[in-house]
Amino acid sequence: MHTSLEQLYDIYLKGHTISTDTRQITAGCLFFALKGDTFDGNTYAAEALKKGAAYAVVDNPDVAVDGKFLLVEDVLTALQDLARHHRKTFTFPVIALTGSNGKTTTKELIAKVLSMKYKIYATKGNLNNHIGVPLTLLSIDASKYEMAVVEMGANHQEEIALLSSIAQPTHGLITNIGKAHLEGFGGVKGIVKGKGELLDYLSKKKGTVFVNAENEAVMEMVSKRRAFGEIVFYCTASSPVNPKLIQESPVVSFEGNKGKVVTTHIPGQYNFDNICAALAVGNYFGVTDEDGYEAVANYQPDNNRSQIVKRGTNTVIMDAYNANPSSMAAAIKNFANMEAKHKMVILGDMFELGEASEEEHLALGKLVADAKFDLVILSGKQMQSALPALPKAYYFPDKFSLHNWVMDNPQHETLILIKGSRGMALESVLGVMAQ
Ligand code: ATP
Ligand code: MG
Repeated sequence: MHTSLEQLYDIYLKGHTISTDTRQITAGCLFFALKGDTFDGNTYAAEALKKGAAYAVVDNPDVAVDGKFLLVEDVLTALQDLARHHRKTFTFPVIALTGSNGKTTTKELIAKVLSMKYKIYATKGNLNNHIGVPLTLLSIDASKYEMAVVEMGANHQEEIALLSSIAQPTHGLITNIGKAHLEGFGGVKGIVKGKGELLDYLSKKKGTVFVNAENEAVMEMVSKRRAFGEIVFYCTASSPVNPKLIQESPVVSFEGNKGKVVTTHIPGQYNFDNICAALAVGNYFGVTDEDGYEAVANYQPDNNRSQIVKRGTNTVIMDAYNANPSSMAAAIKNFANMEAKHKMVILGDMFELGEASEEEHLALGKLVADAKFDLVILSGKQMQSALPALPKAYYFPDKFSLHNWVMDNPQHETLILIKGSRGMALESVLGVMAQ
């Protein structure tokens, strides 16, 4: 006998938290036995119950031996349906964000700005995919919040459409369109289409969209869909939110309304874009300029995202959280504009580029060569493709040899940029640098 969505929702409403990982079982939780490429959650269901889960949602009838196992057709679909159903119970605004880069940063900034006036639930960390978005929605107790900010990530077509059908956003924003997940999307055109699924949803539901008027790609996507409830442009003379960038490095400072100068903790033109987005959303929802400025000024990134760290006499820009051609280009451009006695970059592979990988690594090599940094260190198998453009670079195919070089060659008074894809986990380099 299958458990229906109504039965599952009744159980969820009794206050059970949700878990999808047997290593993180909390007493009385509802365990969803999801499948991955290399594992089948059904095989962990009994263990989850033993560790204290109240129920295990499974889709293999063979493991469902008693009433603690809730059998469904498909566990992932059940999780998504449950979230979709739960979402219908809140009537407050849900702001969804997608884009190639800057989603988490912008989400955090928006949450900070809106929190000056409202009780906000925002996606935790980077829980932005087909599992993370349902988990985000199911974490929301509607009686405790006044608004939600939901990050939606995707690496293939139809994913944002699915996530939109679950999060049912009333408001949305595309941070930017760049080269990320090129492989799964099938090129830049595919990315425009894939990310555009959020706009499709919002225009169908007469939702509101926030648009950086200076972002041509996003402007074009919006202009192709005319049926939005409202389009809120920012970074344009007619908008109440049109800050002027004063300086982008080492950290962004800008001039806001009434000549107010605001200094932040985050570097780069790209973070200025993220700040503008947050101020625009805040302004729309009635957060005062003063509160908005205070919130963005106080924001400190975490998780190796544009963090500024001191090591001896060196300053490290730790951007090892992730990398793709557009975020690399933004980071290199920003780094090139920074003032320093010596500059060094440690760059790791950009993943998920498919056939474009060689070409994109070479293009990155050329960009780095033009910037004329004092030292260029490359690591990872794919970075080899950048070498023809960077004959003087040091190249380390693996982390072991990279770490050794860093330990043997301490730097002084140097500004260091560290960036690579998440799988490269280049933050480990910090651990081998002299304090
Ligand atoms: P993910 O796809 O991993 O969820 P994300 O879109 O959430 O990434 P962030 O985690 O906010 O992005 O930022 C990751 C990196 O992208 C930053 O450290 C920075 O190098 C770069 N980045 C941030 N904002 C922008 C932007 N507006 N344009 C281009 N690059 C950006
Ligand atoms: Mg993110």
